[in-house]
Amino acid sequence: ASQTSVQCEALPVWGKAGTNQERTFLAVKPDGVQRGLIGDIIARFEKRGYKIVGLKMIWPTEEMAAAHYADLSKKPFFPGLVKFFSSGPIVCLCIEGKDVIKQGRQMLGETQPLASKPGSIRGDYSIDLGRNICHGSDSPESAAHELKMWFPEGVNDWNKAVDSWVYE
Ligand code: ADP
Repeated sequence: ASQTSVQCEALPVWGKAGTNQERTFLAVKPDGVQRGLIGDIIARFEKRGYKIVGLKMIWPTEEMAAAHYADLSKKPFFPGLVKFFSSGPIVCLCIEGKDVIKQGRQMLGETQPLASKPGSIRGDYSIDLGRNICHGSDSPESAAHELKMWFPEGVNDWNKAVDSWVYE
């Protein structure tokens, strides 16, 4: 009997940018978790054809929140952002697939909910800038940096049998 192998080559946690094994870091922020949107957000990526290779809930400390948003540390809203991001559990995701960094940002919408089109996560579920539900890496560099930070234990390299129906 033949069986499709789930085994797959071992990859670094950040995958291979520019290939079908590109990876991004996505997070359902504390407001998304409180509002019961974990399943909806994950489902959008799963249904689109992307592969989930890392998934966990974690309650960030203020130190973790500050490290995650370190590039915004000079902004006036930084203290509030750190407090908010560490105010409850978040869901961390490592998602793999072709163009997933750019597509992930498109699926999230714009930083500002008002500029986010209906159909995007922020455009469907959020109103205020500081309660925009989700985070997604904005470049291959930030994806690698964030995945190393949030998944120091690594993720799961697995082969998805339907990929030949997703990719030509
Ligand atoms: P994104 O999350 O789209 O990558 P940024 O990295 O610029 O956007 O900002 C990180 C998060 O900080 C945003 O998602 C938003 O929740 C919050 N934020 C950004 N700008 C402001 C602002 N001017 N006032 C309050 N919160 C902000």
